[in-house]
Order: sequence, then structure tokens, then C-alpha cells
Amino acid sequence: MRPAIRRLSGPTLLFALVLTGPARAQPLPTPESVLGHRIGDDFYLATWEESLDYLRQLAAASDRVHLVEVGRTSFGRPWYVAVISSPDNLADLDRYRSIARRLAHPEGLTDAEAHRLAREGKAIVHIDGGLHASEVAHAQHTVQLAYDLASETEDPEILAILDNVILLLWPSINPDGQTIVAEWYRSNLGTPYEVAPLPRLYQKYIGHDNNRDGYMLNMIESRVVTRVLRDWEPQLLYNHHQTAPFPARIWIPPFAEPISEFVHPLMWRTVNLMGMAMAEALEERGQRGAVHMGSGFDNWYPGFMDHANNFHNVAAFLTETGLYRYATPHFYTVNDFPRSRRDLRPRSLYASPWEGGWWRLRDAVDYMLTASISVLDFAAKYREDVLYNRYQAGRDVIAGYRSNPPFGYFIPEAQRDPVAAVELLRRLAFNGIEVRRLSREAVVAGETMPAGTWVIPMDQPFANFVRQLFAVQHYPDLREFPEGPPEQPYDVAGWTLPWQMDVRVVAADAPLDADLRAAFTPVRGTPVPWSADGDASPFDMVPGPGFDTDSVAAGIRPPPGRVRGRGNRLRLDPAQNNAFRALNRAWALGARVAYRAGTPRDGDTPPVAGSYLVSGLDRAAGDRMVSDYALQVERTGEDGVAMPRPRIGLYRPWQPSIDAGWTRWLLEMYGFDARDVTNGDVRAGRLHDRFDVLIVADISPRQIREGFQKGRVPPRYAGGLGAVGARALDAFVRDGGTLVAVNGSAQYAIDELHLPVKNVVGKLQRKKFFMSGGLLEMIVDPSHPVMAGMPERARIFVDHSPVFDVEDNFEGSVFAHYETTGSPLLSGYLLGEDYLKGYAAGVDVRHGTGHVVLLGMRPQWRGQPFGNFRILLNAALYEGSVAAAHVNNDSFWSSPPSSDTTDSNGDGGRR
Ligand SMILES: [Zn+2]
Repeated sequence: MRPAIRRLSGPTLLFALVLTGPARAQPLPTPESVLGHRIGDDFYLATWEESLDYLRQLAAASDRVHLVEVGRTSFGRPWYVAVISSPDNLADLDRYRSIARRLAHPEGLTDAEAHRLAREGKAIVHIDGGLHASEVAHAQHTVQLAYDLASETEDPEILAILDNVILLLWPSINPDGQTIVAEWYRSNLGTPYEVAPLPRLYQKYIGHDNNRDGYMLNMIESRVVTRVLRDWEPQLLYNHHQTAPFPARIWIPPFAEPISEFVHPLMWRTVNLMGMAMAEALEERGQRGAVHMGSGFDNWYPGFMDHANNFHNVAAFLTETGLYRYATPHFYTVNDFPRSRRDLRPRSLYASPWEGGWWRLRDAVDYMLTASISVLDFAAKYREDVLYNRYQAGRDVIAGYRSNPPFGYFIPEAQRDPVAAVELLRRLAFNGIEVRRLSREAVVAGETMPAGTWVIPMDQPFANFVRQLFAVQHYPDLREFPEGPPEQPYDVAGWTLPWQMDVRVVAADAPLDADLRAAFTPVRGTPVPWSADGDASPFDMVPGPGFDTDSVAAGIRPPPGRVRGRGNRLRLDPAQNNAFRALNRAWALGARVAYRAGTPRDGDTPPVAGSYLVSGLDRAAGDRMVSDYALQVERTGEDGVAMPRPRIGLYRPWQPSIDAGWTRWLLEMYGFDARDVTNGDVRAGRLHDRFDVLIVADISPRQIREGFQKGRVPPRYAGGLGAVGARALDAFVRDGGTLVAVNGSAQYAIDELHLPVKNVVGKLQRKKFFMSGGLLEMIVDPSHPVMAGMPERARIFVDHSPVFDVEDNFEGSVFAHYETTGSPLLSGYLLGEDYLKGYAAGVDVRHGTGHVVLLGMRPQWRGQPFGNFRILLNAALYEGSVAAAHVNNDSFWSSPPSSDTTDSNGDGGRR
């Protein structure tokens, strides 16, 4: 039957098209009747298309289910959310949504009014079918959950849920991945490779890191989910996963330590209550093996999709249900358990140890159904509290930042890279943060801020989010016993966003008085149109129809591009990331691109950075480029050495590499054309015939060498580069190619190409040296082409990074190193700082007639360090710029590596 289409009125028109069911009840299709399988059947996984097909039929037949289109995925799949509640509630959705939004934004509400709204409102709950697609059960369980809620006629618990709760059920928050994984599994079913891991990422670019994008919103999926969250403002958010700490069958909150500093405590308390309620519900149904806390699953990094919402005063959490592989059942005995769990002793937070036996997809689905229903039951029973708490948290946050610093953040338009500030502010706006501008000059924290300065007043309900992103992180030193090794953060330890993005932010240390506030003007703009192919650039933050945060984000624009000076060449300053977009456009238009080398520091004379020069563009094309990319450009008569457009290869192992995915994303974002290079391509040799530059992302040496074990995956995906591949890489560089090895892969290059470089922290024990993900200070040489556009003292993102020393026969240059005194730690966690003092973090090794660029850092990490991107982008262009460096500076190679550090601490040449 054809679903009726109706238009939802409302302030946002987000869900313009609503597919809704008929007024009277009809027999509902069961999942089996449509899919030909029961949900959770052994050996069966529904694809996204099949799930959607079923849900369409269910929505058409049920008066409890609305299916609404919310956007498109990275691969362009149409994407829907099911809104499930009683028919009465569904008839009044706009009203309940506005109550939820009003309570989430409590400005001007009294406690009494908030109580009245809480009594009148319905709890709004987000539950999703997960985003980690190789964890398969959650996207199956959502189909069953929709049917169970739509079809129940007697169970008073379910009926109370329908009356009190509006469920936003995302069948999956990674539809592309759901289909990719289901199809992969089908293709191997019944073969020796039935449970083979996927030889590609299950999100277009970033695979598993789709759950690390909660504040940057680099991926279109993150934006779509965030837009719906900020539109509906649910009070509770439940995100499903499947990596239970074995042999536990499901991990549920409370979370492990440490937790974030700036979350309203009501969120933690509510999440903990739901965790305990969930454990109880599981026991009632005899579903054993639920565990809480433990040593993993902390809540420190704010970029998890669920956790990002705790800073918005949404009680948000995840669970991790047991998984074998796909839909293949598995039998476990106690002997499979870790020794410490074989005693089956009940523990306070693991009261019903799982005893082993069969574990099937259907078991995981059943645990998830119990868990999801228990959250809905919690929301129904505590509906009024849940709604009021959302108000109270927002009220408290606003009051807190009215009486305590930071009272606001001020971000001047004038920045090393003005577009980076815009990138930061747009992301905040899209996350529901109010951004304003100064209409006149003002003095803040002793500094004069010009008119046009961006302002984030902190007396707003989601201010904790900004605080957590802007603060310096001091990861607590957690150990099981005083002399024990440090507990490893579950994710990174430090991310301080203004430092990563190299955006200068001034915190107001005094309350914002009425006079100053009168100078705050709202930011509004025209939303950028829908981008159906999901190919969103940072300039097109907005993937959907009209919506408040869209228009705010779109209203944040960089200062217009400008050309100064005279001359027939445009000098593009690599301190502005958009310079790289401009270069690639210039090449595409047939213009001439050249590199003008800088000069190194000479005593007190500061270094001069290198720059890129473009000539041969007609005036109109040049002006358009400057305007499109908001470039601050100088005309010049100076010239440099011409650079042909490099042919770039990006190593793509079959064992999917998230960092290679981010690297591809970054290269594409800045207009680079990079070709995937597989193991077979490398082993075939003659690489320099096809490529000038090869980039190997942060991949472990073992993974590069060996890849997937033979027998684990279909033969064409097995193995790594092996000895043949290593020789081919060596020949590529000796022939004149440039190999860029990022972070972990640097060790591979050192070993396999026998480079005269040593990783000085490679073999240190964790209790002596531990470098977690975070920001460290490095001294860099901006006159080296790889560091063009960087400040001399740079904040650089590292994560278990190698630290280099060069050996006697080394030829090349050191372009980044650690200071010889003090600690380089800026934000995060670093144990054993003495081990890296004076040593190098970035080395250019001459090898044959080519170069190996070793980066002991992660400049493209999760698409966040806008202040570091140019290191990788410069490296991608190094084939051309190094030639210029040779021509302009005779001493480019003869100068000792990093002359300002050599032996400066007098202990034998650590650098
Ligand atoms: Zn997961």
C-alpha cells in the first residue's frame, strides 16, 4: 500500500515529509513476512535497504510509527528515523517537540513554569541501531523493537511507554556500513571465510572513528544525527555497541574512570540509574552476565557520539553487548574464559557471571531488546523528572557561568588562518552553541577586541561543551597501585581545540556587563543548500533543509579574501590552509605553480618561511580563487622554482586503516587527487613511473609487512607488503620518489629502508614512557618546505608517536624537534618527558636520489588539528618544493641537521 504523505508544520520544518500510517489499525506485517527471516536468525543479516523496506511497510500499516527522512549518507543512501509513540502523541508531535526544546533552552523560564511543562510533556528518547557496522546486532534489533512496540496490545509496560514516551528510533546511524557488512558476510557465507573481517572501512572515510567525530562533525553522518538531536532535544540518548569485555555478555553504565570534568552531575546520576535499571531488567529475564564499570569504557574524550550529548544536558550513554562474528553462532566453554573469570564468582558489579554455552545473534538481539525497553520504561516511569532535569541542568549551567569564569570566549577575526576560526565556530554553532559578534570595539581581559570579534557568551545551556573543548586537559595519573604502570586512557587524553586548530581565543575573566552585552549581535545567515552526494566541505556545513543551527553556522563567514601589493604572481601563504585548495585549483586551470624557498633562522634573525607562487591565471580566475577561498594574498614580482602537480599515491592496506581514511579525507578536502595504492600495486614495482609521492598513514609496521594472515580472509586480501614490497618502496625512493611515513609507519620505513635513524622511545616500557594522544610543543623550522606556514614553536598532535635520533651517516635535515629543557606537554598525558628532550619529531632523510619524510606526529588526526594539516599537505608537495629548496639554498643539505639543536645540551648529539 502507498503511505500517506503529510506535512508537519512547526518552527523548523526539518521533517518536511512524513510518511504516516492510516487512521485505523490493520494487521501489521511481521519482520519475517517481509524479510523472509526472523530477526536474529543464524546466518542472516538484513541490509539497510531491507530494514528500510520493512519499516516502510510497518509505518504504512501502523498508527504508532512515523517514518521520517532525515538526510543522506556519505554514499548517498536515503536515511530515515522511525518516530514511535501512541497515536495521540504522534498527532501532537510538534507540541511535544517544542516542550522538549523549551526545557533544553531554559532562558526566561521559572522553576514553576518548567514543572508545568514537565508535567505536560512527553519524554523524548533517542535509541539507535549503532554506527559500528561490524557490530551487527544493534541494527537488527531496531527492526524488532519497532515491531514489538507497534504490535503490543496488552503488556501494560509497553502501553505505558507508548503513552509517556516519544521514541526516536534510528534503525541505524551508519546505513552504508550496515549494507557493506551484510553484503560482505553474504558473499562469504558457507565458505572457509564466513567470519572473515572486512577488507575495507565500513564508513566511506573513517570506519570505526565514526564514533570519534561527535564535536568536529567532519562526516555527513555526524551532522545529520546532530541536526536531529538539536532539533528534537531528547532527554535520554542510548547508543548501542557490541564489544563486551569477555566473558561478560553486556557492558552497561556506570562508566569507568576518568569521566569528563564539565558535565552536569545529574547526567552521570541519571545514566547510572538507567544502567542499574537495565541490569535489573536483564536479571528479571534470566539474561546473565551484565557487567558495569571495569577498566575500559571511560568517558573522558568528548567526541564519542553519545558522550558529546552529556555536555548538552542529555543523559547519554552506550552499552556493549557480546558479539562473536556477524550472524554466525558460537559455543563457549569456561575454558575459553580468561583465568581470572573461570571461578564464576559473583561480583558486586557482575552479579550473575555468564557460564558459557551457545551465543547467537538472536541472544545479542534479545539482550538489546531488554536493554532498550528498560530505558523506555525508565523514561515512562520518570517522565516528569527526566524532563525537569533537562531544564534544571541547563538552568544551573547558565547560572554557574554567570557567577564564575570563563564568562565568555572572544575570538578575533584576525588569525594566522582566519578560516580556521570560522571552521571552529561553525562546528560549535552546528552543535547548538550560540555565537555572537561584537558590534563595536571592547576591552576584554585587558585586550582591545575590534568590532566583528566573535563572542561565545557562556551563560547558555550547552556552555559545558565549549568549556570541555577549549580547556587544557590534565589527564589524571591513574594506577592500580602506586608503582604500577599508568592506566591507559581508553581514547586520547588531550584535544584542546583552539590549540589544535591554532585559533587564538581570549577568555573573559570578568562578568559580561549589560553595556558589553548590548554590543553582542546575533549571527544569522542563509543555509547552504543540501549536498546530495554527501561531499561536504567545511564551507558547506549544512546538509539539510532550513534549521536554526544551520542558519547560524552558515552566518559565520571568514573575512573576505583580499589581494595586496603589485606583481604578476600571487604569493599563497601556507599558513592559510585554503592556500592548498587554491594551489590545486591553479594546477587544474593550467596555471604555473612555483615554490619560493625560505631561509633558516640565523641567530636572532628569524627564519623566513617558504611560500607558493601562482602565475598565469587570468585576472578574473585569480580574483575568484581569492574570493572563494577567503585568501589573504600578496602580489609579488618574486619567482621560485616551478613545481609540476605531483602524482600522489596513498597506501591502502586490506586491513582497513582508519588513519589512511582520514588522510584521504584530508587530501580530498584540500583538492588533492590521491590514488589508492594496494599491496599488489607496491609489489608490482616501478612505482616512480606512476607516483612522485607515496603517503603511508599511521599504520603499524607489522600490519604493513604482514597484513591479514593467510587463511583468515579470501586469498586476494591476505598478506602485506612483504620483502618484495619493501624492496619496491626502497627502489621508489632511490629513484627519486618521496615517501611520507606518518607516525607508526615511520618505524617501518626506518627498518625496511635501513635508514640511519633510530626511534629512541620504541622499546621503552609503559611504566617509564607513555605518550597518549594529546598536544606537545615542538620547535620547527618554517624554512623547511614541510613546515612552511608553521609557527616556530608549534602545538602538534601526537599519539604514541616515535621520537627520532639520527645516526652518523645521516644525510638530510631535522625540521621538528623537542626542546631540551622543560616539558613539551601542553594538553593530555605524558610520562617520561626526559626521554624525548632534544630529540627529533620530524626528519627528512635523503635516500638515494629521493627522500623519506618521517613524521613523529599525527597532523591529520581525525580531521581536527587544522593547525597541523599543512604539515601533511606540504609533505604531499615536497617532491617539487625540495627542488626549490636546493636551488635557493646551497647549504640545504650541507648544514648539519637542525643546527640550532645539535649538541646544544652537550650530551652527545641528541636531537
Ligand atoms: Zn562499537
